[in-house]
Formats: sequence, structure tokens, C-alpha cells
Amino acid sequence: MKFHFIHGIYIHIPFCLKKCPYCDFYSEPFHPKAKIYDQFVLKELQAYSHLFWNSPTVYFGGGTPSLMEPSFFEKVLSQIGKYTEVTMEANPATVDRQYLQTLKEVGITRFNLGIQSLQPDLLKVLERPYSRKEALLVLSWATQIFENGGVDIIFAIPGQTLTDLEEDLKILINFPVKHISTYLLTFYPHTPFYEYIKTKRLNPISLETQRKMYFFIKYFLEAHGFIHYEISNFAQPGYICQHNQQYWELKNYLGLGAGAVSFYDGHWHKNIENVDQYYILLKAKQKPIAEAENIGGKDLLALKISMGLRMLKGINLEKLGLLNKWEEKQNTHYMSALVEEGFLIYESPFLRLGKKGLFLADSVTREVITALVFE
Ligand code: SF4
Repeated sequence: MKFHFIHGIYIHIPFCLKKCPYCDFYSEPFHPKAKIYDQFVLKELQAYSHLFWNSPTVYFGGGTPSLMEPSFFEKVLSQIGKYTEVTMEANPATVDRQYLQTLKEVGITRFNLGIQSLQPDLLKVLERPYSRKEALLVLSWATQIFENGGVDIIFAIPGQTLTDLEEDLKILINFPVKHISTYLLTFYPHTPFYEYIKTKRLNPISLETQRKMYFFIKYFLEAHGFIHYEISNFAQPGYICQHNQQYWELKNYLGLGAGAVSFYDGHWHKNIENVDQYYILLKAKQKPIAEAENIGGKDLLALKISMGLRMLKGINLEKLGLLNKWEEKQNTHYMSALVEEGFLIYESPFLRLGKKGLFLADSVTREVITALVFE
């Protein structure tokens, strides 16, 4: 059996208070079966004896991890053994001061609070179950208890203005938050928001305003000491999320829990997105895997480029064995235009997205992959 070294362990908690109408992540309503989830996550962890780790990063994501008892985190962490950064996502509606304090005692070192917006009317649009006052109270407790904490915000919410965004950011940076993730609201098919757009119950923000919002956030946070290190992520110096950085660098990680994804040495798999089935498979001593694939050759190279270009530091073409190909391609009409127009920046041996490319990352990345891998 081949052994694989794991850098990060992700644990998916697929339970939420209620489904947000824009969300396309897998989650289920919080119900009593969540109480035995720990037993199955631990069983699943035991099934990976051909993987080994030494102080991995750990990330509890969801769903809503903050619906789980502190003992859940304690048990999982004690089975992992030694670890470094331990992040947990939290929904402001689900925590109190005592809970946060206990999380710190059981080993959580970094929290990420899904605030999304501080505007009462926008919280209503998103159907988030807390008020601005409650969100700020939780943020004040969390930043007092944890030295390393961050927030998620969403931009381009129907009805949102640049002034709303500016007001939110000004409030947030008054707290000692070390990390801010900013997500463009996307209308995924099969979500209620997709229907609301189709039936004109909601009006999407124009592309031009989305672009303005993105760059407003970027320049505002940079002016306040944050480093823009990934398309959607900003951190104070020394506080980038080590765990997520490993995804973009395509390092090996193990995902546990219903719906979790794993990737190690070109092997990718995704667990079944159904808690009952997840339990049944583990009881039958089977891994709860729904899909698996081995990624190699050109596909692996394409994946390294698409993940790597998300980071503002870009990709090292020399390390990827693509320096000669780039030298040849950068003189083509199309690639030279992408560089000259500021969509891409090339500083040998690094290639990264330029300012214009950041907001159009998917399209620019596709062009790079086509030119360097598939042509
Ligand atoms: S809390 Fe998060 S994971 Fe749960 S439904 Fe809302 S957006 Fe999705």
C-alpha cells in the first residue's frame, strides 16, 4: 500500500439552522442525528491508516460547525494528535461567549465568523438569522477570546450600495480582525435566489458595479494594512489562512464528513452528500466515498495552474516545467495582449494575475491553461 503525507485535514459539518436561499453547498437541517456525527467522523478517520501526518492544519467547515458541541471538536482533535492552525467557521446566530471560550480551551486557534453583511435590510435579503447588533456582539467576544480571527462578507447583494459596503468595512476593521474573505454573490441554479432573479423578485447588481465593489474592497483593505493574497482573501501580515493556502498550492489534504473532498498525490475523492448514507456506509466498514478520480498528466498540470493563479503571488513556471512553453507562447498575439493589457503579469519565473485579470480570473486562467497545457 502506498503511504501519503497529509498537510491538512478538513472536517465538514453538514448541518445548518436553515438553508440560506443563495447557498449551493451541501447541508441538512440540524437534527438529532447530528449528536452522533462525532462517532462516524472518528470511524472515518481510522479508515485512513495509509495516510500519515505530523502537525497538520485542521479546518472545521460547513454547513455550520458552530452548531456542534465543543466536545465534538475535542474528540476529533485528540484523535488527530498533534496539529497546528485549527480553524472553525461560525454563524453569529449560534454562539455565545461561554461557547467561544470553551472552543478555545478544546484547541480551536482560529475562528471565521460568517457575518456576510452588517446592513439590516441586506441581512433580510440574505435571510441571515441575526441582527447587526448580534453579529457585532459575537465579533467582539470572538476577537477578545481568539487572537487570530476573521470574517466572511458577501458583496453584490441585490440592493447593496458602495456606501453600504464602505460602512461595513469601516466597522469591521475597528475590530482586531486578522482575516477578511469577500465573496461575490453568485446565483447558482437550483437555489431560491436563482428563481428570484428569473422572476424579477430580486435584481442583480450590474457587472460594472460588481467590479467597482471588488476593487473598492481591495483598495480599502490594502490601505488598512491587509495583504490581498488570494482572489477573495485578505489578511494582516502573518495571518494568511495556512490551511486554505495548501488547497491553492495543491498540497495533500484529507476531507472527513458527509460531502467532504480529499486530494492526495493526484487522487481525488468526494464523500457522499447524505448523512444517513454516510452513517450506513461507515457502519458497514466501507469508506463513504461517492466519486473518485485519479488526476494526472495534463489535467493535473491544468489544476495546478488554476489553483495557483488564485494566489496573488502566482505560479512558478519553472517549477511547473512550463518556462519554455511560456517563452514560446508569450510572443503570440493573444498572450502578449493579455500581458500588455494588464490581465497577466510575468516576472520570470512567476506568472500572476494582473489587476484586470483579478476580476476576470476564470476566463484569464482558462486562456493560460489552453495555451500552456493543451495547445
Ligand atoms: S449557513 Fe452557510 S452553509 Fe448553511 S445554508 Fe447558509 S450559507 Fe449555506
